[in-house]
Amino acid sequence: MSKIPNRILLTENELPKQWYNMMADMPERPDPYINPQTMKPASVEDLYPVFAEELCKQEFATEQYIDIPEEIQEKYKMYRPSSLHRAYALEKALQTPAKIYYKYEGSNTSGSHKLNSAIAQAYYNKQQGITHLTTETGAGQWGTALSMACAFYDLPLKVYMVKISAEQKPYRKAVIETYGGTVIPSPSNTTNAGRAILAKDPNCTGSLGTAISEAIEVAVSTPNTRYVLGSVLNQVVLHQSIIGIEAKMQMEKIGEYPDIIIGCAGGGSNLGGLISEYMHDRLTGKKKPYFIAAEPAACPSLSRGKYAYDFCDTGHVTPLARMYTLGSGFIPSSIHSGGLRYHGMSPIISKLYHDGFLDEARALYQNEVFDAATFFAKTESILPAPESAHAIAAAIQEAKKCKETGESKTILFGLTGNGAYDLAAYMNYHSGKMEDYAPTDEELEKGFATLPKIPGIQE
Ligand SMILES: *Cc1c(COP(=O)(O)O)cnc(C)c1O
Repeated sequence: MSKIPNRILLTENELPKQWYNMMADMPERPDPYINPQTMKPASVEDLYPVFAEELCKQEFATEQYIDIPEEIQEKYKMYRPSSLHRAYALEKALQTPAKIYYKYEGSNTSGSHKLNSAIAQAYYNKQQGITHLTTETGAGQWGTALSMACAFYDLPLKVYMVKISAEQKPYRKAVIETYGGTVIPSPSNTTNAGRAILAKDPNCTGSLGTAISEAIEVAVSTPNTRYVLGSVLNQVVLHQSIIGIEAKMQMEKIGEYPDIIIGCAGGGSNLGGLISEYMHDRLTGKKKPYFIAAEPAACPSLSRGKYAYDFCDTGHVTPLARMYTLGSGFIPSSIHSGGLRYHGMSPIISKLYHDGFLDEARALYQNEVFDAATFFAKTESILPAPESAHAIAAAIQEAKKCKETGESKTILFGLTGNGAYDLAAYMNYHSGKMEDYAPTDEELEKGFATLPKIPGIQE
């Protein structure tokens, strides 16, 4: 048999034409969203003031496959299908009998998988005649991806960017502005929510929660304006399924099936996307690959969180979702993997974990994560995003186990982004001052104390 190539590629014509919806095959679906005003299960119409209607429908969709509109396929073709890599150099350096594959989503200019959902969300808003979008961004990846997508569809975009992040990451701001997005450091004096916070603390450096509140306030109070969110939601997991559909096609081309599949988990969207078609096999009893969610020890939503109803945002305006959460009042330490600093987890991923279909949540400390990132950069040449490096670290752990046992397992992990915008984190690592941190049980209790009470459902 000829050697498996370093990169397994698909042609443009092989780009998937449908997204796969895991909800269709789950024996039990996630619990319904709850409307925070009525504290009753939310209807699809309840979400219309905030999100585009087609996207609200996708939030509730139970069809197995949903067509990817041709206009979206055309945009995807600018950077998809993405490549699947055989990590020969990494395997060799680890002297492992394991076969390691990774699906690389960082080759587009925005640098991450987030563009897959940004394009879809911008498209459906444009279709509906929406003329302006708002969003928030913490670390900046989502703001960058969405500003690109909005440029494609000529949609003006306001990005509420956590103030400290806007100051620390001027290059992110420059990219967002290049694609036509407007960056507003949050808290700002452009909204009631922002003004209230500034009145109390004029030097407030901002938080994701405040930025979300500002973005939603503008969306619901401005005609023809909607809000978009880059992770957590069912629609985002649906859009990201393109990662796993492609990966499975690529693995099939070379006659491979992964024993272990690993994704990093912030809000759960890339993990949900990567595992999608493999979870399909698992849910329908065809195969039983082992799924691992790699998360930061500093923000361990799955491994140490509670499965409970919680607000998706710190500002308490979005619907309540039942998910693994640390509590919307949980304040993670300032670790550098900005994209993984979220208190909750996708309701779909949470339900799969709760019901035992997602096998393991593994919390990793950041020095090990950056050790893995630099080891990977030196061997495989790609500078990984710190978020993605959590998956690399877990994959290396698995490959080392194979070395001990002599087993030649096939490992697939998601390389969600490149680290070109994350050099401050790498500088911190090189300085030797990076700290390993995990919250104490007491600190977690403080977060759990902020879980909402819902009459009859969660007392
Ligand atoms: C945002 C982000 C993540 C985490 O988000 P998920 O919704 O959990 O996928 C992971 N990697 C990169 C590069 C990101 O930008």
